[in-house]
Amino acid sequence: METLLELDRVTRTYGRGPHTVHALRDLDTRLYAHSLTAVMGPSGCGKSTFLQCAAGLDRPTSGSVRLAGQDISGMGERLLTRLRRARIGFVFQSFNLLPMLTAEENVLLPLRLDGKRKDPARARRMLARVGLDGRADAKPGELSGGQQQRVAIARALITEPEVVFADEPTGSLDRETAAGVLGLLREAVSAYGATVVVVTHDPAVAERSDRVLRLAEGRLVADTVGAPV
Ligand code: ADP
Ligand code: MG
Repeated sequence: METLLELDRVTRTYGRGPHTVHALRDLDTRLYAHSLTAVMGPSGCGKSTFLQCAAGLDRPTSGSVRLAGQDISGMGERLLTRLRRARIGFVFQSFNLLPMLTAEENVLLPLRLDGKRKDPARARRMLARVGLDGRADAKPGELSGGQQQRVAIARALITEPEVVFADEPTGSLDRETAAGVLGLLREAVSAYGATVVVVTHDPAVAERSDRVLRLAEGRLVADTVGAPV
């Protein structure tokens, strides 16, 4: 199996002295290309921190993260931003949609930022695939939490990024919509070979993953292939 991401003794602490929070402690793992990995664990165990460090959105306090052999943990901000735009899609737990833009404009944003051709038809197709046909002109404030989450997913997938990170992407969705979203993520793996990493509490998501990583108190405590929950 081809290693795409390598986390080597990644530690992330917040604060100092007696109030230090150890979000990640000495975490070592590799993520393989063209697969879907679920990251599970209780609230506060470091899942979001793990995802953000792996995606180059946050920097480890110590340790290193390599993407396709390239150390991204020490990379300059400009280079890192460019690399993220070209290769990484991220679905935030809090969606992070731009409130002044429509759903369609939000979905088009990564193409714009990456200097690619604006392609509204493609954005509408992505929106249709997450069940939001007809809502392309709505602003985030006019959409429900679940609908905003689906816009965020369409936005993360529009560039067909090599690596997709999704932080609880089905958290505010009903069962049927959640299954659809998971289907899209699985399809990114099968259709164009994406590497997908999903934080989830949902056993149904874990069941359809190639691998499940479990965190507890900032450490990796289980790593299972085939995804028993
Ligand atoms: P999870 O996503 O599993 O709920 P997080 O990665 O968000 O966990 O958080 C891990 C730990 O780090 C928690 O104790 C959390 O309170 C702490 N933490 C996360 N972000 C910050 C921050 N910006 N400042 C201080 N502590 C933080
Ligand atoms: Mg979280």
